[in-house]
Amino acid sequence: MIESWLYPAERGLYCAAGDFYIDPHSPVDRAVVTHGHADHARPGHDHVLATPETTRIMQVRLGEAAAGRFQSLSYGESLRIGAAEVSLAPAGHVIGSAQVVITHGGERAVVSGDYKRRVDPTCTPFEVVPCDVFVTEATFGLPVFRHEPDHSEIARLLASLEHVSERSHLIGVYGLGKCQRLIALLRQAGYDKPIWLHGALVAMCDLYGELGIALGDLRQVSDADGALAGEIVLCPPSALNDRWSRRMAEPLVVLASGWMRVRARARQRGVELPLVISDHADWPELIATITETQAEEVWVTHGREEALVHQLELMGRRGRALALVGREDEPD
Ligand SMILES: [Zn+2]
Ligand SMILES: [Zn+2]
Repeated sequence: MIESWLYPAERGLYCAAGDFYIDPHSPVDRAVVTHGHADHARPGHDHVLATPETTRIMQVRLGEAAAGRFQSLSYGESLRIGAAEVSLAPAGHVIGSAQVVITHGGERAVVSGDYKRRVDPTCTPFEVVPCDVFVTEATFGLPVFRHEPDHSEIARLLASLEHVSERSHLIGVYGLGKCQRLIALLRQAGYDKPIWLHGALVAMCDLYGELGIALGDLRQVSDADGALAGEIVLCPPSALNDRWSRRMAEPLVVLASGWMRVRARARQRGVELPLVISDHADWPELIATITETQAEEVWVTHGREEALVHQLELMGRRGRALALVGREDEPD
């Protein structure tokens, strides 16, 4: 019975077989961290096990003192922790993101953290690991959530740049993952002009460069002479409507997020060009992934739990909502 050695505890999902937590929301002795996003990678743990990339991200975001001690484990390597065998498999979410594969007593659980299935030029693709219990997110766990193909969203952006060339295209992106993926997708589409960055996005783009992801000519907005008419400018979503954006030439506000499928959210934020580009699985990807893992039981950590648990019943699998503390609507 996996629930006798893996279960939600006060500080997060706890593996009793190895005495460690996965993505705990407050400080613990021993944490395994799936990826560098703030709601998963919290500071203050004594010991953190993560991929080498996630370790670097935590050090850049939180400082060298992000944890007492880091231990890196590359994809595919395995490690004995207490009575558990632990390995990390690619999750395809952001660079270094991992599913935690835990085997104990002849049973296997896979804790996927956040993941997506479509090709992302900035990270290793998701790997299906067959298991007995699959622990999944459900950020976009409603049938209405179907993300568009990336290339068609990028084509809409490039068409707008061409037709509305007197305006700056100011794009709100999450700083870890979405920012670099959007740049890489633009480069793949042949866009080779400089791309302008808000200062808050620079350190993570530099780190991606260090980790071998080429992003082309990137420049800081603070170094620009003019008002960047007809240029692409990336900033955190919070900067879209603040004073900072006033220096731009009639900024055309763009937001790249899975939430842009919800028109009301786009309108609410004053977004003129919503791009549905997400780092989370959409509904068809969630269902396909669950089927491919062959897991008989699926635990849902956060997002639209009820709809997915209901769907699992229809698929003849046991579903369970974990209701973990500290996970709200994912930024995406
Ligand atoms: Zn994430
Ligand atoms: Zn998350």
